[in-house]
Amino acid sequence: MGKALIIGCGGVAGVVIHKCCQNSDVFEEIMIASRTKSKCDAIKEKLDGTTPTKIRTAKVDADNLDELCALIDEYKPDIVMNIALPYQDLTIMDACLKCGVNYMDTANYEPEDTDDPEWRAIYEKRCKEEGFTAYFDYSWQWAYKEKFEKAGLTALLGSGFDPGVTQAYCAYAQKHLFDQIDTIDILDCNGGDHGYPFATNFNPEINLREVSAPGSYWENGHWVEIPAMSIKREYDFDQVGHKDMYLLHHEEIESLAKNIPGVQRIRFFMTFGQSYLTHMKCLENVGMLSTTPIEFEGHQIVPIQFLKALLPDPATLGPRTKGKTNIGCIFTGKKDGKDKTAYIYNVCDHEACYREVGSQAISYTTGVPAMIGAMMLMTGKWNKPGVFTVEEFDPDPYMEALNKWGLPWQINDNPVLVD
Ligand code: NDP
Repeated sequence: MGKALIIGCGGVAGVVIHKCCQNSDVFEEIMIASRTKSKCDAIKEKLDGTTPTKIRTAKVDADNLDELCALIDEYKPDIVMNIALPYQDLTIMDACLKCGVNYMDTANYEPEDTDDPEWRAIYEKRCKEEGFTAYFDYSWQWAYKEKFEKAGLTALLGSGFDPGVTQAYCAYAQKHLFDQIDTIDILDCNGGDHGYPFATNFNPEINLREVSAPGSYWENGHWVEIPAMSIKREYDFDQVGHKDMYLLHHEEIESLAKNIPGVQRIRFFMTFGQSYLTHMKCLENVGMLSTTPIEFEGHQIVPIQFLKALLPDPATLGPRTKGKTNIGCIFTGKKDGKDKTAYIYNVCDHEACYREVGSQAISYTTGVPAMIGAMMLMTGKWNKPGVFTVEEFDPDPYMEALNKWGLPWQINDNPVLVD
């Protein structure tokens, strides 16, 4: 079928690469290109000979437009899969436009340097106008809509699990289960245990920025912002059990509020253990989560980047992690004039993921939908020019692919609701 250029070679990319190699009919050839080429070569060496997919590797700095364009022009992929960091989203989108190729990613753009005065001016205006203070929002990538339309190219934003699969669940509920969706609660539960007192399951810098920020939710047409971790609920998750979960701001709330007509409330909850929260609070209190560079013995260091260097690499958690994840959406609304509820969710086992692709379930639940999103574009199942999030496409082929490629979902018609 075609060729994909995969940028990044961390925890999530490891799964994307394994899954593309399982799906050689679509991904006949892949190029793995990242900052550290030795990581790309190591995974190529592991997979060569086990798959018909032809694998090449390259070194690329995805912050550098010229380097990206040179690589794309030489390799001529059908799609560029951005599995690096959200910092690179805009540069990679620029490169795709310049070279005439489709784009996809798994996370909303945010800047690496949040003290950049140009970015900050726009950010502060947005905080006032929109009413939420997260460093990331869709405005930066939605601003590319017209350029992608004019170029006849597609950019698929946020095809991981959340964002990603959660929006496919919403589109599916809208299409098949409800006439009107009133409320959506997205519940992200990780019941896994890696045995470390403190580690993050994906890139620590991105993860800690997200969870230490104020929470927010969408209600009756506007954002409600709350202090970080100030709304807590307990929920009994299928195959995991009782967990404490906390309301966070999350990027898919922003696009779902636009794309699910008449929705009254959208909230996002994530589970955290007490040890994680205590460590995070302590690190925050001593300034280790700061993104502002400080002078240390003649060097400029960014505290959160230094912390990342100390923490376990999420890509190495696979062999240690036991337990399951349970991620899904609870809907309330109306069908045929009657009240209706539904809970669509997936349960994923950390150890089974490790046996299959050598990664824990957080990387797996992100990497599988990234492969599926790219497959939707490469096979022409999702094909319209512009910049879109997952819920803006027909959910059926994506939902079918989730069942086929390792993330089967189920529906509970009578779930316990979150108060
Ligand atoms: P990692 O830190 O493990 O991997 C990031 C990779 O990107 C590394 O290989 C890194 O290179 C590479 N990279 C970073 N900067 C550059 C650059 N300038 N040029 C080229 N390569 C670069 O992160 P994860 O795999 O944990 O996360 C990947 C993405 O997935 C993130 O955007 C994250 O936010 C997203 N994500 C999405 C989820 C979802 O459900 N939607 C859930 C979890 C994660 P090097 O190896 O040299 O460091």
